[in-house]
Amino acid sequence: MNETFYEVLRHQGITRRSFLKFCSLTAASLGLSAAAMPKIAQALETKPRTPVIWLHGLECTCCSESFIRSAHPLTRDVVLSMLSLDYDDTLMAAAGHQAEAIIEQVKAKYRGNYIVAVEGNPPLNEDGMFCIQGGRPFVEKLKETSADAKAVIAWGSCASYGCVQAARPNPTRATPIRKVIAGKPIICVPGCPPIAEVMTGVVAYMLTFDRIPALDRQGRPKMFYGQRIHDKCYRRGHFDAGQFVEAWDDESAKKGYCLYKMGCKGPTTYNACSSMRWNGGVSWPVQSGHGCLGCSEDGFWDKGSFYDRVTNIHQFGIEANADVIGGAIAVGTGAAIAAHAALTALDSLRRRESTKDREGIEA
Ligand code: SF4
Ligand code: SF4
Repeated sequence: MNETFYEVLRHQGITRRSFLKFCSLTAASLGLSAAAMPKIAQALETKPRTPVIWLHGLECTCCSESFIRSAHPLTRDVVLSMLSLDYDDTLMAAAGHQAEAIIEQVKAKYRGNYIVAVEGNPPLNEDGMFCIQGGRPFVEKLKETSADAKAVIAWGSCASYGCVQAARPNPTRATPIRKVIAGKPIICVPGCPPIAEVMTGVVAYMLTFDRIPALDRQGRPKMFYGQRIHDKCYRRGHFDAGQFVEAWDDESAKKGYCLYKMGCKGPTTYNACSSMRWNGGVSWPVQSGHGCLGCSEDGFWDKGSFYDRVTNIHQFGIEANADVIGGAIAVGTGAAIAAHAALTALDSLRRRESTKDREGIEA
């Protein structure tokens, strides 16, 4: 039997006190009340780690880069400790037949109890010959591996929607995974790439509660994709006041006015960038002076220039139309802010813990 998450943490020298703090912060990062903390602790102490098979189709590996380069090492480490990453052909040492055999072993031993995480998508033209793995089309491997899985996670916009490799005329017929996998819950975590803390948050939720999070109409977890970039953007006041950047180097750009007229897709994009931000909360694209490209929305790559203004919304009274366009239901706006606060606290906890660990080892 796999070890529990708690056992793995103890082997790593994490104290029970820190474990309970982690449980409390996890509850906050998922937008849950403190009452959820004992349930999280009980689940993590008793449940064996969940085996995960991480597959790669047509993609650039930016989702893996985002995940493993999380600015919060403790978050990344504990999430990696929560799951048993039994197969990942980008990260694993095994190769060839040895690697392929691992998939069969996981399927046989954990039938119906493992998670498949997919980065990239399968190309279907010419019998799938544009992506060959282990001597056969990736689409076959994807279907077979998913057949006995508990659930499937579609990492990034490639797996969720097709993304740039599916751009017109899509010569390889790159196809979202939901169109080739049948009968399994699929959780879409789009973005190019998704925010690291969104990825770890989704995994933490699934492993803790043994269920998939509530999803919007596009299959995205509402806790992270329930609000528009525009709703939490710090430049929103300028939008409401009609103060816009008209050219990249004008006075309005220097004053940090709204980027709507420069093509910002924030009003029609659902993601957590404007509240959680990137690189551990350091910044995000709009804060760097560039408009949102809408990378977490289906078809963003084929909607014309990134610098074309969104024309199918009204400049004022925008909310009703944008909600229809976005096709998602807004949920409590506190979750992402709570997530960022919790992650910041996690980071400082990690630093304190690592200092204490060092002191303990040295003593
Ligand atoms: S249009 Fe873009 S820059 Fe302007 S407030 Fe909305 S998200 Fe922010
Ligand atoms: S700001 Fe927009 S384009 Fe940039 S990462 Fe976030 S959702 Fe994607």
